[in-house]
Amino acid sequence: MDNLSDLAIRAVLNVEAGITIDSDHETSGCSMLMPLTKRGEARCGRRKYCDTEYCFWHSPVEGKTNSQNIEAYFGQGTTLVRTLEAEVKAGNSLENVILPNVNLGGNYVKPGPNLSNALLQGANLNKASLSYCDLSGASLARANLVSAKLSDCRLADANFTRARMFNVKLRNNTLSECKGLRRSNFREATVFFWRIDRMLEQDPEHAEAMYLELTRYFSSRGLFDDASWAAFRASKLRHRMLRQRLSIRRLKDLRLISQISPDFIEPQGPLYVEWLYAFFAWARSLVFMLTTGWGERPMRVIASSVGVILLFSLLYDMPDGPTQNFIDALYFSMITFTTVGYGDIIPHGKFRLFAGTEALLGILLVGLLLFCLGRRTVTRA
Ligand SMILES: [Zn+2]
Repeated sequence: MDNLSDLAIRAVLNVEAGITIDSDHETSGCSMLMPLTKRGEARCGRRKYCDTEYCFWHSPVEGKTNSQNIEAYFGQGTTLVRTLEAEVKAGNSLENVILPNVNLGGNYVKPGPNLSNALLQGANLNKASLSYCDLSGASLARANLVSAKLSDCRLADANFTRARMFNVKLRNNTLSECKGLRRSNFREATVFFWRIDRMLEQDPEHAEAMYLELTRYFSSRGLFDDASWAAFRASKLRHRMLRQRLSIRRLKDLRLISQISPDFIEPQGPLYVEWLYAFFAWARSLVFMLTTGWGERPMRVIASSVGVILLFSLLYDMPDGPTQNFIDALYFSMITFTTVGYGDIIPHGKFRLFAGTEALLGILLVGLLLFCLGRRTVTRA
């Protein structure tokens, strides 16, 4: 075996074991303090990189994205993602790693890597599987986390300032101690004033819980518009789940689950009663969505009010109505809606019922408008 390939094999072995082969004396390896190394030692101990005191992962020097540097350190034909995957598979800690702007889109299988306090600002983690990962204290500012999996991660003190997180998979995460999260982190595109901001919504139950977590996060930091967006998305997913229950097959499945699991109690009446319950829950949610955006969209209340006023003005404009022309009808409709009631136009017959109904709707919609406006500036528990 010639000397070169021997060196390459040694390098790969180093990576997989996470140790240096010539570890005769402690000073030869990386001196980064690592309280959680496999060997129970206080220092990283990996082979030194360039002229620094540290290994490739821990040295603060530039040029880690250069494939020549990577091959020189880890051996011919290796990539950073593959070496990282090998490290994770071997169960080595990647605490305090310094990898700004590197491309790490890979598949780091369970158990996730310990990337606590890692410096990953600007790193490309597109589609990376980081589930079950310890990212506490990590810096992910400006990182590309589009379509990344962050389920069950520890995220205390993780910094997400301006990180791109569209379609990111979140599940069972505690966000209260994160830093730098905004609605714009989840942005895919902006078309004029229409912004598309989403996390992965494939599993509505988990996504709804995470949107509620985001609502609390934004609200506690005074980001009321962002909180309103997250609350709206949560309601939207709840609505989707209600719609799913309208399928008889789904209801039968739920019954099956309730028979298997003792914790899961569903009404055991006739199936059509259950379906009616599901239908009314969905219909109520639908009305709430259209009129108020589940309490988050004041503009929808205003639009509904305009709609009601126009609809009733058309009714008053009927041939036997109380007004002679459409302008009068519109005026009468507005006066009735706002319950001003000057009394210059007096409805008769069935039109008295129409006017009464419109006045009731007016009171209701003005109340809803105040509720929606007020809700935006109130901290949510
Ligand atoms: Zn090191």
